[in-house]
Amino acid sequence: MSKFLSSRLKNLSAYTPGEQPRDRKYIKLNTNESPYPPSPEVIEAVDCQQVGMLNLYPDPTCKILKEKLAERYGVTPEMIFVSNGSDDILNFAFMAFCDREKGMAYCDITYGFYDVFAQLHGVPSEIIPLKEDFTVDVDRFAECGTNVVIANPNAPTGIALPLCDIERVARANRDSVVIVDEAYVDFGAESAVGLLVENENMLIVRTFSKSRSMAGARLGFAIGAPDLIADLELIKYSTNPYDINRLTQIAGAAAIDSDSYYFENADRIIETREYTTKRLRALGFEVIDSKANFVFARHPLFDGEKLYCRLRSEGILVRHFKGERIKQYLRITVGLPAEMEVLCETLEKILNERG
Ligand SMILES: *Cc1c(COP(=O)(O)O)cnc(C)c1O
Repeated sequence: MSKFLSSRLKNLSAYTPGEQPRDRKYIKLNTNESPYPPSPEVIEAVDCQQVGMLNLYPDPTCKILKEKLAERYGVTPEMIFVSNGSDDILNFAFMAFCDREKGMAYCDITYGFYDVFAQLHGVPSEIIPLKEDFTVDVDRFAECGTNVVIANPNAPTGIALPLCDIERVARANRDSVVIVDEAYVDFGAESAVGLLVENENMLIVRTFSKSRSMAGARLGFAIGAPDLIADLELIKYSTNPYDINRLTQIAGAAAIDSDSYYFENADRIIETREYTTKRLRALGFEVIDSKANFVFARHPLFDGEKLYCRLRSEGILVRHFKGERIKQYLRITVGLPAEMEVLCETLEKILNERG
């Protein structure tokens, strides 16, 4: 860092994205992307005509995209916010709803960016440990009295919280915003969208990066009461009103039109997830029941980091976290059936090496 870096930022530890090495071809099971390509409609929508219009600014209101999302989720366009990836929206939410007095509560084991945003904005964080079995401590969230962000299903555990628990947290914290990060909800969990009518303090954050095969396009959206959405717009128009580029807006609209394609892929991923879970358990792994497009697993006899390194040397990337409670685990994205087959065979080989 330079000597010019603001003292406010000197101790900030940034988010570490999953590695994207280029030295060889890897089976990539480390960043929870979809193994399936965007729909044919999306590929067709981003055509020469659109590319030829890149000299013109995109629509800052994202009118078409918002209308399609509103229709799709049964709300009004005023209840939709769109931005350049859901990370962007979470960042805006920290800026809009938190300050030095009003903090954010989140789990000790959850999406790593919540902690980064809290540090970045100097926001007091209330870190609520997951229970022994890695489920969310709903009682403590219900009595926290501050803003809340919960990933549902949670990452990297894949465990989903029932909607009655989400509702309880929202009702118990009426003077705070309760953010539900539903990045993985399309893989078998229940969305809290139906709770918005009675819980105007709830903000649901979603992404096109996982179930809609568009991680490379950067598109996220939020659904919530119009005044919460207006707060997010205030931040967007104070930073980067054109944050969703022309190609992504077109691609996003086409993706919503081809939702049945993505549902079929989600079903395939769920099937592959269940198969992989069985295979890993047969190899002696403890695998948490996942409602996401990844599984979280550990082997009682093998060190998590060593397994990660051995897999990497065999050309398979998975995610390993160094946190004390989870350092024996691997987070494995559910890829194509053939990729999971290679994963299981390779793991079997590694486990047998030491007999
Ligand atoms: C992947 C992920 C995001 C970020 O999604 P982008 O839209 O790609 O920025 C947000 N929250 C969770 C829990 C995620 O896993």
